[in-house]
Amino acid sequence: MRTVRTFEASIANPQQVGDDLDQLGWAASKLWNVSRYYAQEQWDDTGEIPDDGELKAELKGHERYTDLHSQSSQRVLEELAEAFTGWFAKRRDGDSRARPPGYRKRGDSHPRSTVTFKAAGFKHDAQFTRVRLSKGRNLKEHRSDFVLCEYELRPDVDLTEWDIQQVRAVYTYEEWRLQFICRKSIDPDPPGDGVAGVDLGISNIAALSFGSESILFPGNALKEDEYYFGKQKAKCDDSRSNERLRLDRKRTERRTHFLHTLSKQIVSECVERGVGTIVVGDLEGIRDNENGESRNWGSHGNLDLHGWAFDRFTSILDYKAETEGIDVLIESERDTSKTCSACGTKDGNQRVERGLYVCEECDTVANADVNGAENIRQKVTPSPSQDRSNGWLAQPSVHLFDRSEGRFAPREQVVDCKP
Ligand SMILES: [Zn+2]
Repeated sequence: MRTVRTFEASIANPQQVGDDLDQLGWAASKLWNVSRYYAQEQWDDTGEIPDDGELKAELKGHERYTDLHSQSSQRVLEELAEAFTGWFAKRRDGDSRARPPGYRKRGDSHPRSTVTFKAAGFKHDAQFTRVRLSKGRNLKEHRSDFVLCEYELRPDVDLTEWDIQQVRAVYTYEEWRLQFICRKSIDPDPPGDGVAGVDLGISNIAALSFGSESILFPGNALKEDEYYFGKQKAKCDDSRSNERLRLDRKRTERRTHFLHTLSKQIVSECVERGVGTIVVGDLEGIRDNENGESRNWGSHGNLDLHGWAFDRFTSILDYKAETEGIDVLIESERDTSKTCSACGTKDGNQRVERGLYVCEECDTVANADVNGAENIRQKVTPSPSQDRSNGWLAQPSVHLFDRSEGRFAPREQVVDCKP
């Protein structure tokens, strides 16, 4: 499995390298403008915009092209071609306000563009935590032929564990920083051969079953956020569209954080218990209830959360599980809410009251979501023998999202088994 990460570093010797990086950043903007101009001419003449292959072929002899290392220049032209492609895609999708990429010029001056250094354009020195960035032929004449940046990374990052694919010099908030785009192959052994089932829902965002133990993750924090942001947005009239955008961004950040935390927690519970496979109930069941109607959050309005959250959740879970060597399988949720996970009886008339599933056949009382999760688990692994104690089905431990800590914490739970 291949993992790609970007690590951002500050530059420890900005006085020494700032001028050189400025030169490179301005050169990248000038090359952008040259190629943007060329693209415009082609566009006017032929009605077509050149792709990055044509841009490279046409502009490689240009004076501005040789200001930068050839790979850095190629990257500028690729960025321009990508910007045109992105604009086409937006227009095709009906966004009439989308504009083609512009020129990088502010009055008489140029902004400092990001400069990318690929394999031949940088040399990393791990021992002295510095990296040598190559300049283009034109900029070499006056000074040395490279920029030697000393950098400082977060202390928990060790670049020697990674293959550095690219280095980017990025100018933000009035300073240059470096981004290391890194890759490594990892192939971890799974923590064991256990199987866990996950049932996704609304009031409990996830129920987790290990076959002899279960955990519930209530969606309280998400629901409170939906309510809060819904109310705040309703207060904004049309004249405050920026405020609405800000609220949307904030809400998305909060949802994403919640889902990351939830997946991380689920994966770590699985690692602790030697689980090598996580089975997730297919999301179709989340979107529609048994009558084919969309479920929602009820009177305060859930709106668009469910489809978004659950697609996003499975992809985050998949990615976090993979780094631990755990497989994630998706299985249909069909009948999982109607079947008794203890005896296998399937009956549409089973009683589900106050979140409890009660089997008429074997008298098992189970938390309904845990029962669903256990049925999902059993799609991949055989059911345990029926004479086993199944009290755990009714007594999941509950991990509540704690806002102040930003994580899930176990909660003492009082279980009421009387249906
Ligand atoms: Zn039963």
